[in-house]
Order: sequence, then C-alpha cells, then structure tokens
Amino acid sequence: MVILMKRTATEKDVAAVAEFLKNKGLGTHISKGQDATIIGVIGDKSCLAQTPLEMLPGVEKAVPIMQSYKLASRAFAPEGRVCHVGEEEIGGKKLALIGGPCAVESEEQIFEAARGVAAAGARFLRGGAYKPRTSPYSFQGLEEKGLPLLRQAADAYGLKVVSEIISENLIESEGQYVDMFQVGARNMQNFRLLRELGRCKIPVLLKRGIASTIDEWLDAAEYIMAGGNYNVVLCERGIRTFETATRNTLDICAVPVVKERSNLPIIVDPSHAAGKAAYIRSLSLAGIAAGADGIIVEVHPDPMNAKSDAAQQIKPDAFCALAEDIRRIAPVLGREA
Ligand code: PEP
Ligand code: MN
Repeated sequence: MVILMKRTATEKDVAAVAEFLKNKGLGTHISKGQDATIIGVIGDKSCLAQTPLEMLPGVEKAVPIMQSYKLASRAFAPEGRVCHVGEEEIGGKKLALIGGPCAVESEEQIFEAARGVAAAGARFLRGGAYKPRTSPYSFQGLEEKGLPLLRQAADAYGLKVVSEIISENLIESEGQYVDMFQVGARNMQNFRLLRELGRCKIPVLLKRGIASTIDEWLDAAEYIMAGGNYNVVLCERGIRTFETATRNTLDICAVPVVKERSNLPIIVDPSHAAGKAAYIRSLSLAGIAAGADGIIVEVHPDPMNAKSDAAQQIKPDAFCALAEDIRRIAPVLGREA
C-alpha cells in the first residue's frame, strides 16, 4: 500500500501518519517528491483493511497495491490451476465444451439435449433444475424433480453434470446428482453460499455478477478457496452496459485480465452475454481465441418452445458445428478440443 500525501501536508502530518502506522506494527518508506510526499507501507497490511486512512490530516489517498485475494491470485500459483471434475479437467490443454439447455424441462428434452451434446464431442452437460428467474411468475425450474433426470441423461451419454446451486441449504441434496455446481451471476456475492461451497468437495463454476468488477469476482472465488475448495472455474457471462443490442456485453477483456491476475481457469458463456442464438458462434470463437479454457453454451432440441431463455439457445446440430470450428482453431492456440 502507498499513501499519497496532499501537496499541502506538513512534516508534522507525515510524521503523524508514520507514527499511526508504527503503532499498528507497520514500517514505512517515505519518499519526498517535489510536489508531494508518498509513504510506502511495509508489513502485513491486513490490519488496515477497514481503516479510513484518508481521515488522517494531510492524506490525499491510500492506494492498495496488492489485491485482497491471495489463493486466487496468479502470484500464488504462477503455473495456473487445473480444475478436476472427476477424470475430466478444465484449464489444461484440452478446451472444455459444456452444453445443455437453460433449464431441465422434461425427460425427453434433457435426453435429447444430452445426445446432441455428446455427439458434438462435449464432455459436460449443463441444465438448471433450480432457476433463479428475474420474475417470480416465470418458470422456476423442475427443482428437485429435475436433478435425477439430468443425472440419468448425463450418465446415458457419459457426460459430467453442471447445474446451478441457489442456496447453501441445497448443497447436500443437489450434491448427490451433480459433478460441478454452478453459481449464477445473481448469486456471485452470496457470501454464505460461497463459504459453504468452500467446505464441500464438489467443483464450482463461478459466474461473474451482472455488474461486478473482475476484482470483486476474484474476491468471490477467494471465498470458496479460503474454505479449502480450490476446484473453481470462472465464467464470463456478459456484464450490464449501456448497450441494448445484446442482452449483456461479453467482456472479452476479462479473459486476458483474469489470466494475468488469477491462477483460475476461465470459460466464456456466449449465451447469456448475447441473448441471441445468431451470435453464439462468433462469441464462442472470440472467447477461445482470447485464451478462454472453454465455453458453456445453451443447447436445446427445440429452442422455439423452451421454457426459459428461448431466444439464445441453439440446436444440437449448431452446437456440433461450433465444436467442429473450435477443433479447427484449437491447434493454432496450442490447445486441443
Ligand atoms: C444460466 O446459466 O442459465 C443462468 C441463469 O446464468 P446467469 O447466472 O449467468 O444469468
Ligand atoms: Mn439461461
């Protein structure tokens, strides 16, 4: 952390700040510039996390130079982490392809989707049983009835199951059916949920909040990791901006930024970013080209009649063609698919 003093700060102000820090057990490195003095703080700054240093006389601002997350930081594991989902991996050389409907709607629908996803060569089936919908009047998912259907469909085609977890009270029951929990955008800062997921052994796909900065997202990942669960994958799913042409704005920049700041794998969700089936292919390829470790795409056998997110779901044959395109560009990026 560095503390920038005001131009008008006196020697006494600087000495008082140094004394304040000394009393907290911290050292200082004072550098007097022509215009202002900068105080470098030496030692464990965690005791200053809640201290409004700007309230001390003469202080212009305090700038943290270290991020608050540690386990999730690139510095902590410079080689990067691989998330293990059974015998499957996310974050290794092989790109992860996850496909499946927004919501599990019926046995027929989820089996049909699983068949298409497996035919595309993907290894993971997604499908929401519990759907956190913006309106209470929208379809809320089949809830506990959806989970066994999802499991059976995945098992029939040798796929891993990814499904959203909306409450810490469901971890145990839902954990019987899924291989990976998804934390949705709306729950990214549900800290109690994150903390409990940290205590369990099931891998977590952590989506970025609708209006969260990358550092807030990494802090959320840190909550899970701090509990001992390092099997975390980040998912960029579009953020809210002034643009209305798409449902959200896919923040492609987040991919290289996360790679630089964090050791966690990151995948891209073009479906919730675009909100429109026609854009899925471009955004998926852009995500992979930017360095993402995979994609999660909404795939529905009959998008026109989907009970949620109908406009953004693609048919299995389109997912198959997309997987083929990804396989073509993967070698250029030093990856496999
Ligand atoms: C979903 O994956 O269906 C979903 C609700 O996603 P998000 O949390 O990103 O909106
Ligand atoms: Mn959806």
